[in-house]
Amino acid sequence: MKGTAYCIILGMIITGCSKHQTPITKRDQMMLLSKADEMSIGDKEYKRLLSCTTLCKDTEKKKAIDRVGKKLISVVKNSHIKKWEFILVEKDSINAACLPNGKVFINSGVFKVAKNDDQLATILAHEMSHALARHGGARISRNKVVNGAGIGGGLAIAVLNPLLIIPYIGLYQATTEKLVTTPHNRLEEKEADEIGLNLMKKAGYDLKQSIAFWENMKTVNKHKGKTHTKTHLSYDERIKDLQKVITKMQSI
Ligand SMILES: [Zn+2]
Repeated sequence: MKGTAYCIILGMIITGCSKHQTPITKRDQMMLLSKADEMSIGDKEYKRLLSCTTLCKDTEKKKAIDRVGKKLISVVKNSHIKKWEFILVEKDSINAACLPNGKVFINSGVFKVAKNDDQLATILAHEMSHALARHGGARISRNKVVNGAGIGGGLAIAVLNPLLIIPYIGLYQATTEKLVTTPHNRLEEKEADEIGLNLMKKAGYDLKQSIAFWENMKTVNKHKGKTHTKTHLSYDERIKDLQKVITKMQSI
């Protein structure tokens, strides 16, 4: 597996010239996609999702999403995303997602844990931050390098001993999952929380309510017997990190 790790590092060095710096956290990340590529991916996915989505007709919830969304959009400056949109989906599960082109899908189930505008701002700002930080493009870029290195390693192994191909694929996938995919997913979650808090602050929302929001999430999921997935932060971990960022922001 050492050879594989070198392949990944080599790929990252080769592509090192294609970097993107995230807003607020100022972290450099590998970026092999142009902004236009990301917009095009987002546009296609937006059409696909809309064709299989039932929109929520609840006017109070829709008004709340529009009110909070509008306020958050007003504080986003110098973004590559020109047209944000918030789509309220009729679905009970507590989930939201933002496409790279700024289309934010929010399940109506989110209102089970977002008890006021500040708490709703927590989840909307978090999702918008994924798009602002271009996490979607960064994820596709990582996959390209990881897959390219995997194929390169596989070809080399096939020449040496074809019988080792199957164990190699399994080991490669497990290793890259552990060393690349999971740590990056967790890092991006943390980063979206931090950028989201900055948007909330600029829009005048109460930052402490972000903690209340995640406490609500923890309570609801505990009752369901659900726990976080390994790619995501645990609720306690997230709350601790949010508290740290809030303290840092308040001391500036
Ligand atoms: Zn997220």
